[in-house]
Amino acid sequence: MDAEKIILKNFSQSEMEDWVQTLGHQAFRGRQLFQWIWEKGVQNFSDMTNLPQNFIQELENSCLLELTSVHQVQTSQSQGTSKFLIRLSDGKFVETVLIPESKRTTVCLSSQVGCALDCDFCATGKMGLKRNLSSGEIADQLLHVRRFSETPVTNIVFMGMGEPFHNYDQVIKAAEILNSDSGFNHGARKITISTSGMVPQIRRFADEGHRFKLAVSLNASDDESRTQIMPINKKWDIAELIKACKYYTEISRNMVTFEYVLMEGVNDGIGDARRLLKIANQVFCKVNVIPYNEVAEGYLRPSKKRIETFLEVLQGARFAVTVRWSQGDDIDAACGQLSTAALSENE
Ligand code: SAH
Ligand code: SF4
Repeated sequence: MDAEKIILKNFSQSEMEDWVQTLGHQAFRGRQLFQWIWEKGVQNFSDMTNLPQNFIQELENSCLLELTSVHQVQTSQSQGTSKFLIRLSDGKFVETVLIPESKRTTVCLSSQVGCALDCDFCATGKMGLKRNLSSGEIADQLLHVRRFSETPVTNIVFMGMGEPFHNYDQVIKAAEILNSDSGFNHGARKITISTSGMVPQIRRFADEGHRFKLAVSLNASDDESRTQIMPINKKWDIAELIKACKYYTEISRNMVTFEYVLMEGVNDGIGDARRLLKIANQVFCKVNVIPYNEVAEGYLRPSKKRIETFLEVLQGARFAVTVRWSQGDDIDAACGQLSTAALSENE
């Protein structure tokens, strides 16, 4: 790729408007360009039919429209889930997942190549962090998936590779491209950002008044077990995390979703469920229980019976409980199974 050229997809809409003005064009040309890129998803400057010919020529000479490419698509035979291997311009790879269901179509986006947080049960965590994605590289994943999907995308979740709040600015910038009516025009309440519990960023997210939904991976109900599986708990323990979640719900008046990955003998006992009930009852929330997808040595999915017993304890809670049976495990596309470590380019 020509390093001298300007990568248009990394501009926010306002940055695009400012930039076209430095070239002597009116701000609305920036909006039109932004619409061609994201709303219409054109792949050639010459298709931008409402732009003046001399502007198109300028763009062709000095800018790049392409940023990432689809290297491979695998589709689960049994469940219809598709996993996209996306090649970045430096040769690294990330994965994006498309999950069509009867009433909704969800896209799971990656925010980093790998992840620094090193949760013991997670395949992405085992890769370590290779690098952050730019806002353009994040939003580009949705462009690729939208071209492929037979049904319109209804839900977007930042639950692919990476810790979104460890790449806060680029993730928010990307979410704004998804939400913008000149971008993907996707409702903010249908965009969920999932964090492993980075407390300062949860507070910042609340203070900035974003309308995107927030999910927090709680995954344990006492500090000892949480620290064992999620090293981040040493930095911000459960009490601090819950305080930040309450702060978020009070400021935003939105609920938080707690994710709780159930692992046999780690966090799936009756005592664990009782403590979870007590913690979550203090917060305006819902709880999403995710039976573990087996990827890391030493961690197992509990039996159906144990899962049911765990859920029974949560009956009568003040919060709603949902169970997410992950889709796409036959192609390693389910929660926590995303890893591009085996690809030499990611070394
Ligand atoms: N880094 C963010 C978002 C990506 S992980 C976070 O941790 O929240 C998305 C979700 O998948 C998290 O709730 C995480 O706990 C869960 N997860 C990770 N590995 C998993 C696995 N093997 N099986 C099921 N869920 C898993
Ligand atoms: Fe990173 Fe989330 Fe995996 Fe933890 S669970 S290693 S934060 S991607």
